[in-house]
Amino acid sequence: MGEKYFTVSYDDGLEQDRRIIALMERYGIRGTFNLSSGMFGKKSYIRRVGALSKGAAQKDSAHPEEYYDHFALSKSEAQRLYSHPNVEVASHGAHHLVQTDLSPEEAEEEITRDFTELSELFGYRIVGHAFPKDTYNQNVLDALKRNGALYARRVARFKEPKDFSFDRSSLILMPTCWQLDTYVKPLLQRFLDTPAGKDDMVFFMWGHGYELDYGTAQGSYDHLEELFKMVSKAGDVHCVTNRELYPDSPRNNK
Ligand SMILES: [Zn+2]
Repeated sequence: MGEKYFTVSYDDGLEQDRRIIALMERYGIRGTFNLSSGMFGKKSYIRRVGALSKGAAQKDSAHPEEYYDHFALSKSEAQRLYSHPNVEVASHGAHHLVQTDLSPEEAEEEITRDFTELSELFGYRIVGHAFPKDTYNQNVLDALKRNGALYARRVARFKEPKDFSFDRSSLILMPTCWQLDTYVKPLLQRFLDTPAGKDDMVFFMWGHGYELDYGTAQGSYDHLEELFKMVSKAGDVHCVTNRELYPDSPRNNK
């Protein structure tokens, strides 16, 4: 008989993660935060996805409303926050580089350095990765395998999945949805209403903390709280971190 699992995954190690983790604690949600060990403390701004004006990543004085704080926590702040018992830390590439063109040496530096530094900082073996900007090549996959990665997460958005099946055999992990997908709430309701079947069912939601600053229908802490509350009321859903989706893998040892 299959089981039902719910997990979340957030990228970039941002100040907004404090509020997300407080909500996770309140509703018993577990999840994974993907950090770049070479980017601690870096403050920048990010332009909202779908913003109408085109421009550089620099804050554009003509369109200040399209930019949101992208403030990475310092190393000591990150160590404190992500040592929370509901949280797993995973890698996001040491410098958040576009990974499509990395040479074997660059891939080694980006992946191995991040796995090593984060493992030392948090005191357990890092086993997961989220591809920065959803980019990777074979050198990156080889470096991930050498580092004993269990999973490497891509992004999913705008395309509603047909079911909640989950492929544990692939290194590449596709989430169920993005937290800002317009259908996220009815999709979660469908997941909660579907009885467990023969195979495991997984609802895997990914996002960035700054997206909750948008103040849109899905882009708010209130909306995230509603989703977490729905999950917490279900009696048959296991809340897990990303690595806890792989309890039987021989590579998933501490
Ligand atoms: Zn990122």
